[in-house]
Parts: sequence; C-alpha cells; structure tokens
Amino acid sequence: MMLPDWAVLNAAIDWLANGLWNLSWWQVVLYTLVTTHITIAAVTIFLHRSRAHRALDLHAVPSHFFRLWLWLGTGMVTKEWVAIHRKHHAKCETEEDPHSPQTRGIETVLWRGAELYRAEAKVPETMAKFGHGTPNDWIERNLYTRYSWQGVGLMLIINLALFGAIGRPSGPCRCCGSRSPPPASSTASATTGATATSRPRTPAPTCRRGASSSAAKSCTTTTTRTRRPPSSRSSRTSSTSAGSTSA
Ligand SMILES: [Zn+2]
Repeated sequence: MMLPDWAVLNAAIDWLANGLWNLSWWQVVLYTLVTTHITIAAVTIFLHRSRAHRALDLHAVPSHFFRLWLWLGTGMVTKEWVAIHRKHHAKCETEEDPHSPQTRGIETVLWRGAELYRAEAKVPETMAKFGHGTPNDWIERNLYTRYSWQGVGLMLIINLALFGAIGRPSGPCRCCGSRSPPPASSTASATTGATATSRPRTPAPTCRRGASSSAAKSCTTTTTRTRRPPSSRSSRTSSTSAGSTSA
C-alpha cells in the first residue's frame, strides 16, 4: 500500500488551518474592518457620487481601482447599480421605486434588498433609460459585466489562500512565544526521525526560528527536561537533538 508523503500532508493541514498569513484573531478582525470600509467607500464615492449623480470626477486610477474592488468584493455591475439608484430617485416612494419601504415594506427592503436589486437589474427598460454614462470599455464588457460573479469567486480563492479553509487564529508558541508554527517538512522529519514512511505524531505548536536559534534550543531543552526523568541523562541528550516538536 502506498503511504502518503507526511511532509506534504502536514503542509496541507497547516495551510488549511492558518493559510499563508497565519494571522492572529485581531489581525483577521482588522483585515475584515479595513476591507469592508474600502467597499463602503467604493459604493458611496464611486458608484453613488461619481457614477450615479456625477457629483465628482475621479482620476482614472482610483476609478478603476474601485471598479476592480467592487468586482472582487461584491459582483455588482456599475451600470446596474447606477440605473437602479437613478430610478429610485426618479420614482421615489412610488410603485415604480425599485426599493421603496413605503410600497414594499421596511422588512422586505431590509432583509430582501438584494433580491429586489437582482430583479430590477433584469429589467431592460430600467437599464436603457437610467444606465447611461456608465463604463463600457473592453474590460467592462469582457470581464466585469460578462463574468460578474466570478470576481467574488476569485476573492474567495484569495481569502482561502491567505487565511486557510478553517481560519483558525494561531496561538503563540509554547516555548518562545512566537506565533509561527514550524515548517511542515521540519515538523515531519523531526517528529518521525526523518523517515518519510513512518507515521508522525501530532505536531505541537512551536516556533519557526529553527534548531540553530538559541530560543529554539533553550525551549527544546526545557521541554525535554520536563518530560524526562532526571536519571535518564543520555536519553535526554539524544532526544534534544531529535526535534523540537515533542512538547
Ligand atoms: Zn443618490
């Protein structure tokens, strides 16, 4: 029977748990707040003020950044948002208002607003009458509008790569306080005695500083001393060099 490559398996598990960034919980919260705020700014500055009401003209660079960000973060098409919002102003609080709390009910607008938006985006008359003056360049036609939801899918893949599938914030190393776990390959080899075919024990969180650093050496020695009886000096010495992940 073919045995799996434990180094690769451990690396995969480590990535699933922590992603590439291996952030702590407050860093994940900070990332969420910052990216959410960028999305809010994109809607209010770009879609609302600049595109729907033409209240300001943005430079091409921020303008295109907001289009890209909205494609990645929301999947909203500029022409659809602008047309629906202009119709909302033109038909405010009437039966033709796409999202009027007066005619559709406040709960419907609050909890099913996205459904109202998607239904109105499929009305050709709304797009033709209110969607003028919106981006219609090559990338809008061939990417942002044509593959509107794929941007959100791409963002999902990026977030999975950065944060892992589980999104578990990592705790500090037990021995040196570092938040970085050891590379999976060194974990596997250290735990298994560098044999790819033997099954490793579950790795404990320790640091990435490497066996050569004083912190790793000291914490390995300390850990070994707490686990070994004082009389087994020779076995303690050999286990110290075997690996720093036995804690
Ligand atoms: Zn408005």
